[in-house]
Amino acid sequence: MEKWPLGVFTSVDAGLGVKLEVAHELGVPTIQLHAPAAQTRTSENAERFLNRLSDLGITLTAVFGGFEGESYADIPTVSRTVGLVPPETRAVRTREMKEIADFAKLLGCPVVALHLGFIPHDSNDPLYAEVLEVTRDVCDHVKANGQNLHLETGQESAAGLLAFIRDVDRDNLFVNFDPANMILYGTGEPIEALRQIGSLVRSVHCKDGKWAANPGAEWGQEVPLGEGDVGMENYLRTLDSLGYAGPLTIEREIPQEPERQKAEIGKALRLLTELKEKIG
Ligand code: MG
Repeated sequence: MEKWPLGVFTSVDAGLGVKLEVAHELGVPTIQLHAPAAQTRTSENAERFLNRLSDLGITLTAVFGGFEGESYADIPTVSRTVGLVPPETRAVRTREMKEIADFAKLLGCPVVALHLGFIPHDSNDPLYAEVLEVTRDVCDHVKANGQNLHLETGQESAAGLLAFIRDVDRDNLFVNFDPANMILYGTGEPIEALRQIGSLVRSVHCKDGKWAANPGAEWGQEVPLGEGDVGMENYLRTLDSLGYAGPLTIEREIPQEPERQKAEIGKALRLLTELKEKIG
């Protein structure tokens, strides 16, 4: 694959991405996919989806797990509801994450990813050991599928995530870096975080955001690419300096406004195309 193929985050049913038709109309060569709902994850649907991708000339680069009951309403709600950290839903979601990985395997996709949830900052917290254990369990399952697991950034500082990944101690655990999330969650300046965690970055989101007045206590604001505080040129130059050549996957999480979502992703594609030519 060429360096930095452009991509977009898509959804079949669940999730905040654009439809595959929109990815096609936008002319992108790659997509990431939010895992479809359980009843959609059949081998017949996998085959149908693969045929469509092949017809459209689109490569699937990652499948993202997501679960019923997750809410990103505000930061405390994320902490309570998202990922494999909340104890009440952990067993069911872990089983589902493995099913999602198996569905991704049917799609020939070597990468599965997820928001793990808020990892306790104190490694002596008993919950920390539990999250380590469940992450190892998922890593080992996807390893048997020949897949890597990518953790989405945002809920931890770069240093916290680095320490956690080191403690998990699996060779197929990497990072999907989302610079806007570092701003939205208030977990660190994104370029500095990228430099810190760069050796583990195997996929990225191109998304932009503005800092909240009280970062970490309240949400920052997600904005169109190039209009926020990430600094897209600096972001791509930093990825370049780290030797990252993988897909640049645009995320714009406003599915309630599909026309605006498509138009803004189109604009983002033009911005990234310009920057690619400039930085090369
Ligand atoms: Mg993201």
